[in-house]
Amino acid sequence: MSETLFERIASGQIAASVVYEDEVVVAFRDINPQAPVHVLIVPRDPIPRIAAAVEEDREVLGHLLLKAAQVARTCGLDEGGYRLVINNGRNGGETVPHLHCHILGGRPMSWPPG
Ligand code: 5GP
Repeated sequence: MSETLFERIASGQIAASVVYEDEVVVAFRDINPQAPVHVLIVPRDPIPRIAAAVEEDREVLGHLLLKAAQVARTCGLDEGGYRLVINNGRNGGETVPHLHCHILGGRPMSWPPG
């Protein structure tokens, strides 16, 4: 099976600005930032999207969210606040079929999203 774009970033085959990594997840700056801080955090072992997650992914998903909060903290976003986003499928705006959580901060966010 061919590797996803984010697997290739996670393994270092494609360069990215990595801000955090461990044995389960990798966080790196988005190539097309939508906020002063825009980081993506992904599991090393791909899950296509949140709708495809299964019970066995519980631990990875919990780790991903805890590390997203840690990355936001280390990026200086705790005081001002930030947004975590997971896009799922066509209407959700998903473009890369490897589950990823966007960490966006450094400016006020509007609601609802466009
Ligand atoms: P999605 O729309 O699937 O939720 O988000 C995919 C994100 O991946 C987009 O924000 C896009 O800018 C980012 N992205 C796409 N290709 C690359 C890449 O090669 N490197 C990095 N760092 N980000 C990428």
